[in-house]
Amino acid sequence: MTTEATGASTGATPGATAESAAVAARAEAFVADLQEWLRIPSISADPGHHDDVARSAAWLAERLRAEGWPQVEVWDDTDALPAVFASWPAADADAPTVLVYGHHDVQPADLADGWSFAPFEPEVVGEELRGRGASDDKGHLAMVRLGVAAHLAATGADGPAVHLKLLAEGEEESGSAYLDALLAAHRDALACDAIVVTDTGMVGRDAPTVCTGMRGMVDTEIVFRGASVDLHSGQFGGAVPNPVTELARLVAALHDDDRRVQVPGFYDDVRPPTDAERAAWAALPFDEPAWLAGSAAGAQATAGEAGWSTYERLWARPTAEVNGLHGGYGGPGHKTIVPHSATAKLTFRLVADQDPARVLEGVRAFVAAHTPPGISAEVIAGGPGVPPLICDVDSTLVTTIREAMGVALGAEVLPAREGGSGPEALLATELAAPLAFLGVMLPSDRIHAPDERAVLPLLLAGAEATAHLWRMLGDRGV
Ligand SMILES: [Zn+2]
Repeated sequence: MTTEATGASTGATPGATAESAAVAARAEAFVADLQEWLRIPSISADPGHHDDVARSAAWLAERLRAEGWPQVEVWDDTDALPAVFASWPAADADAPTVLVYGHHDVQPADLADGWSFAPFEPEVVGEELRGRGASDDKGHLAMVRLGVAAHLAATGADGPAVHLKLLAEGEEESGSAYLDALLAAHRDALACDAIVVTDTGMVGRDAPTVCTGMRGMVDTEIVFRGASVDLHSGQFGGAVPNPVTELARLVAALHDDDRRVQVPGFYDDVRPPTDAERAAWAALPFDEPAWLAGSAAGAQATAGEAGWSTYERLWARPTAEVNGLHGGYGGPGHKTIVPHSATAKLTFRLVADQDPARVLEGVRAFVAAHTPPGISAEVIAGGPGVPPLICDVDSTLVTTIREAMGVALGAEVLPAREGGSGPEALLATELAAPLAFLGVMLPSDRIHAPDERAVLPLLLAGAEATAHLWRMLGDRGV
C-alpha cells in the first residue's frame, strides 16, 4: 500500500524479551552481512545478470549452512533461475511444519534511472540501509535468518520449535514464470502445514499492519479490425465503421456512472470484506492529500467505485483498467484516414473469490456484445491470469502473526491487504496449505523504484517477530 503515517517511531523496548536481546546482540553483524549480499546484482529480468542470480543463490546457501541449517540445497533442475531451499527440523517430531517463502532476485537498477546513490554499493545512512534489495526481498530473507538465530538463542534449543523450511525463489521479480514447475518438481520437500510469505509490508511505520490478501489479475488485449488497410476519410468516412471510434465506445461502456464494471457476471463471486475488516481499515490512518501528492505522484483526486473507501477500493474491490488505447495516426501534422484497426490493452484486478477463467469468459461476452456490424473483434488473453489470495483472518496462523508482530513492534497490528498480485495463490494451492504474510516493508522503501532502502529498526523488529512466531506456533500449532 501507499500511504504512510509519520510521527513517533514504532518499536518495543529493546531487550524487553530474550528474543529482542538476542536480535540486538546480532544487529551489527546482520547489517554487515546483508550489505555483502546486496552487492550481488541478482537481477532476474536481465540475462546478463543471471550469473549474479546464481551467485546470490550460492551466497545464501553458504550462509544458511554456516548458520546451522541441516539441509540446504540450490535448486537448479528446472527452467527456473536458481532457488534456494533449506530445512531445519524441530526436536519435537509432532511440531507443525512452516515454509517461509521469499525471493533473492531483485528488480533492475541503474544510476541513470534517477538513483541518488549506487544501487549495488549499499550503505547505512542513519536508520536506513540503502541499496537495491535492501527491503525487497533480501532484507526480509535476512530478517528471517536473524529471527531463527534469535529464536534458538532465546530458547536455548538446538533446533526451532516448528519444523522450518525456507524457499528463496530466484525470479519472482520476473513474474515467477517457472515457479509452478519448481513447486511440482519439489512437492515432497516443500510439504508443509503453513506458508509464511516475507515479501510484504505494512501501511506505515506507525500503522503496523499484516497483509491478509492480495488481488489477482486477468490481462487482455482487444483488437478491433475494419478494412484491410487505412481508408481515405473523405472517400469512405461516414460510410464505414471506424475501429478506433467503436473501440472507444466499448472502453467507455466498461464502467457505469458509479464506476462499476459492466462485464457480465463480474461481481458474482466477489466476497465482501467482513465488518471487522472494514472497521480495522477505517481505523488506519489515511491522509488523502498527502497520499495524492506523495505516493500517487500528484494524482489530482481519488476516484473509483461508488460507496467504498480508498483502502476498500484497493484491497477488496475488483477493477477494470485501460492500460493503453491505440489506433490510427499519431504523428506530426494530420492524416485523413479511417484507421483499419484499434487496440486496447486491459487488465482486471480480481478479489476473492473471482476466478480468472470465469472473468475472461465475461470479458469475451462483453466484447461480443459491444462489437458492431462491420468490425471483427479479437480478444487475446495474456496467459491464464493470477487468482486472488485471501487469508483466513481469524485463523491461529494470522492471529499469532499479529500477536508476534505486536510484541516486537510494541503496538497493535491491524489486518490490511495489498492491491497488487503475486505468486501467493499458486503457492497456497500447489502446496495445499494456509498462507499468511509477515513483512515490514514500508511504502517509503521505494521497492521497484530508484533509491530503495530499508528501515533497519523495522527489519530488526521483524526478525524478533519471527522469533516469537516460531515459539508461539510450536506451542499452539497452526
Ligand atoms: Zn518482492
